[in-house]
Amino acid sequence: MTNTNQTPSTTPAADVAGSSFEQLPLSAAMLENLRQLQYLTMTPIQAASLPIALAGTDLIAQAKTGSGKTAAFALPILKNLNQPLFRVQSLVLCPTRELAEQVSQEIRRLARFADNIKVLALCGGTLMRPQMTSLEHGAHIVVGTPGRIMDHLQRGSLNLDHITSLVLDEADRMLDMGFYDDINSIAKQCPKQRQTLLFSATYPNGIAKLAKQLLHNPQQVHLHEQHASSKIRQRFYEVDDKQRLQAVAKLLKHYRPVSTLAFCNTKQQCRDLLDELLAQGFSALTLNGDLEQRDRDQVLIQFANRSCSVLVATDVAARGLDISQLEAVINVDISPDPEIHVHRIGRTGRADEEGWALSLFSAQETPRVNSISQFMGNEPEWHQLNELSNSNPAPLQPPMVTLQIFGGRKDKIRPGDVLGALTADAGFKGEQIGKINVTEQTTYVAVERSIGREAVRKLSAGKVKGKAVKARLLSGNN
Ligand code: ADP
Ligand code: MG
Repeated sequence: MTNTNQTPSTTPAADVAGSSFEQLPLSAAMLENLRQLQYLTMTPIQAASLPIALAGTDLIAQAKTGSGKTAAFALPILKNLNQPLFRVQSLVLCPTRELAEQVSQEIRRLARFADNIKVLALCGGTLMRPQMTSLEHGAHIVVGTPGRIMDHLQRGSLNLDHITSLVLDEADRMLDMGFYDDINSIAKQCPKQRQTLLFSATYPNGIAKLAKQLLHNPQQVHLHEQHASSKIRQRFYEVDDKQRLQAVAKLLKHYRPVSTLAFCNTKQQCRDLLDELLAQGFSALTLNGDLEQRDRDQVLIQFANRSCSVLVATDVAARGLDISQLEAVINVDISPDPEIHVHRIGRTGRADEEGWALSLFSAQETPRVNSISQFMGNEPEWHQLNELSNSNPAPLQPPMVTLQIFGGRKDKIRPGDVLGALTADAGFKGEQIGKINVTEQTTYVAVERSIGREAVRKLSAGKVKGKAVKARLLSGNN
């Protein structure tokens, strides 16, 4: 489905997807190069966004990975380049070194229609000096990670005065990695008069906030595979009240979702469920109104960075929760209000992901299920607990663990410093590192479970931002 909102935009993608690049205002040389690269027809995101971006308008484009987003911003950048002016005119921000390198290679291929368009990748994990020399020699397009770009700006080795286009690629992932402030600060140092293009695979709340800050009258293109509601698969399981808490564990063992939000109607039920899940060896946390802000942040960070499997909450406690990847919502108690039910289950099945909405109900609660199905206009899928597999494979474990570093914004630690310490210094791969959250006093980094201990050891032995730091594994259940 395509929906182009805010200022209604051009032709819907469905009509032009698969159509040729020839209809775009591109030079003959550029078109010939595209033919040589075997770019014969536009992908849907290219068909939807190129007419907008080539016209010079700001753009927010959301489409899944592998859909051809790079060319969707690279072609407008290349078209608008003033080649004789040997200054940095375009800046592309990417979350990791690997991605920045991929993007700069793709831009170089697309730039082959002309001689001597200089594309420079500036990422952490390599020495500053050679990069500074390359910058002295000049470049038209810079592709880099926010941390390293900030470093160059601070040293005065990168000048953004001639920037005419700024691209945020994989913006959702950059926000996950805690680059919000860096991106903002970099954008502020670009001329106001510029085109800004934002590309993202998913569209969490943070993206809208960022776009509002940095984009000017943007048009939006969202490409979804299917209608959102059809990606939520909803099942109702009948239980005795006595079995309710064990039933939640059974659902988790059967469906094995990476992240589950479990809704209870009361705080007492939240506490009881948490005890049951912990006793059974699940990684679970609960949110309730009595938590201090710092503890609440810690719970949310661990759940959102995928180092905790289950978050147990009441509707009130879950208010404002913005988690983009949620494989399942379990209604431990069914809500008496169908609207609340729909709101709860709407948190799963976002973007391109499928989601499970699993609800437990006792015989007396059957009328609630019926009013929900009436409200939603579909037939409920009734299920029995004994359909669930009884075999007990490996316990459900979150894919990541959270490292806590004692030091945060007050110590001028930025996400890029932590990423650099883990990738460049300690030798881990960018893909092994998940979300990075820097708070005032503390930094939280998600890393793949298998490297957790080693990462703590290497961080504690090494330096972050030139200083020794203390780090430890945060146990999920404190
Ligand atoms: P995304 O950024 O959306 O994940 P990429 O821009 O990396 O996707 O593109 C994915 C792959 O598709 C790349 O190998 C790219 O060269 C190729 N590609 C992109 N657009 C086209 C096209 N119009 N025709 C053929 N191949 C394309
Ligand atoms: Mg991409």
